[in-house]
Amino acid sequence: MGLLDTKTGNGRIVISKVDDLLNWARLSSLWPMGFGLACCAIEMMATNASHYDLDRMGVFPRPSPRQSDVMIVAGTVTFKMADRVRRLYEQMPEPRYVISMGSCSNCGGPYWEHGYHVVKGVDRVIPVDVYVPGCPPRPEALIGGIIKLQEKIRNESLLIPAMPKESPRS
Ligand code: SF4
Repeated sequence: MGLLDTKTGNGRIVISKVDDLLNWARLSSLWPMGFGLACCAIEMMATNASHYDLDRMGVFPRPSPRQSDVMIVAGTVTFKMADRVRRLYEQMPEPRYVISMGSCSNCGGPYWEHGYHVVKGVDRVIPVDVYVPGCPPRPEALIGGIIKLQEKIRNESLLIPAMPKESPRS
């Protein structure tokens, strides 16, 4: 339907802000990086399976950080893995987002007290946008986290430079 149709009254005009249009496109095509760290990753894989059908929300796992805009940290972040997690995050293009899935990633989980090898929250390594509680969170909880992230993206402004994300706790 072209501009001429619009002028003759046969077409329809949609008026929107550029921000809204771009944000709608971005939130409708979230591509998480396909990687997992421990048992929470099984729930993440189940969420991507046919029963929950994340494709309908535009969520497609990607095999490379360079093609991803969301990192779902699913599992226990050990000190050994923390460097790798940060490196993968830095390889993702901006704007990029992080969902922390499960107690281990949120705060160390069952290892928070005696797990000398476990980072007490992935937000000490990379900035986190959404936390999903649970041990492990069910797929419905992860979908809830994805919807929360979509709400956040919907309200972002692309024309005004965003404030730098809070640096991770050291
Ligand atoms: S939060 Fe629970 S289910 Fe998830 S990785 Fe940790 S121990 Fe496993």
